[in-house]
Amino acid sequence: MGDIQNAVISAFHSTVGELLDEYVDSGRPVDGAIEPQVQRCEVDPVSDRGAYLDALIDIAGRPLRVTAVYELGDGMWRARHSHISECSHDREVVPGLYHAAVEVSLAAILITDRLGRIEYVNPEFERITGLSKREAIGRSIEILRARSTSESTVRQIRRHFFRSERWQGRVRIRNAGGEAVWHRVLLSPVPSSNGDAIRFVAVMIDISDAVSLEDELRRFATTDPLTGLSNRRRFLDFGSHTVRIAVRSGHPLSILLIDIDRFKSLNDWWGHKTGDEALVRFATVLKDTLRDTDLVARLGGDEFAAVLPGANAENAVRTAKRVQHRLREVAVPVDTGETVTFTVSMGVTSVIGRDIVLDNLTLEADQALYRSKHLGRDMVTHYTNL
Ligand code: GH3
Ligand code: MG
Repeated sequence: MGDIQNAVISAFHSTVGELLDEYVDSGRPVDGAIEPQVQRCEVDPVSDRGAYLDALIDIAGRPLRVTAVYELGDGMWRARHSHISECSHDREVVPGLYHAAVEVSLAAILITDRLGRIEYVNPEFERITGLSKREAIGRSIEILRARSTSESTVRQIRRHFFRSERWQGRVRIRNAGGEAVWHRVLLSPVPSSNGDAIRFVAVMIDISDAVSLEDELRRFATTDPLTGLSNRRRFLDFGSHTVRIAVRSGHPLSILLIDIDRFKSLNDWWGHKTGDEALVRFATVLKDTLRDTDLVARLGGDEFAAVLPGANAENAVRTAKRVQHRLREVAVPVDTGETVTFTVSMGVTSVIGRDIVLDNLTLEADQALYRSKHLGRDMVTHYTNL
């Protein structure tokens, strides 16, 4: 600020009491502790003898806005016109102490009008989004949307705006580098004096660390560590859900149960390490042969399962035979320099326009698998052929 502006501002400080007398109810104390926040102070560039001043004053939590025109006469700056108003309708919405508190907050904070147009952002918001106050203000909060932000989240937020309701949830926000970063967003309507929500305040906290940890824990809880396939728990979750969908929609779905033949002997003869290698190689064959949309799981020991949505009995048996066929090319190296081959037995069953749950399908596939073992192993049996 220049010298003239400083002189105007100090004149404003000393006359703020007088200005307030016009506004504040009689008997209300106006002491020297009031700290006006000057927003703008513009000096008449032609004469240097006039100035326009715009400031915010907070009196006992009540924000007031003062605008005044000053003139220079006899070496003194005097207020010619002044106006004081409640500043709830001003564009500058965060007065005094509140403003300072929001500005230093480690959470990104933004304030929008009732349509979601940004009116205020704090420095943390600028830092995480890479959008300056100037770039953000006046634009819709939709600019924060990352490509991966789900449509249902956007719809929920819009609905809460429309109904002036509080909302909180996890949202992917576009950061300064254009990446989608998980944030917890707390959105609250700010009611005006007559009770209508006229603005919304949103607090955004980066929770990407917590989300990554959660993902990792979920992965640990649902993955078999040796083969990287899904585990029994995921098979049960995904399987029951997918079977329910197939039953309801009438679409085909098949289940494969697979058990390695005489795996105990392979372990005993060649050692546990070779056994583990066989399990890993078989897992790879399964994954590579089945579709991305199929679920492949290791249920435990040498027992595997697959859920094939969309596959009828014929497709499933063909797929199972393809797995067996590919397994013939797998040779597990052992310490002696030799290689070991192995076979698997399979049981298959299908939802064919039946009302059935995963548990019962698994029992059917298990009976079919038992038949494959009983008939000499290295076989595929469909439950309908029992
Ligand atoms: P069958 O043809 O009737 O299936 O005979 P099998 O010898 O394969 O019998 P079974 O399926 O009951 O044997 C499973 C064996 O798998 C028993 C155990 O030694 C072995 N096993 C279980 N988990 C692991 C593992 O994580 N690593 C290794 N190397 N072996 C395992
Ligand atoms: Mg076995």
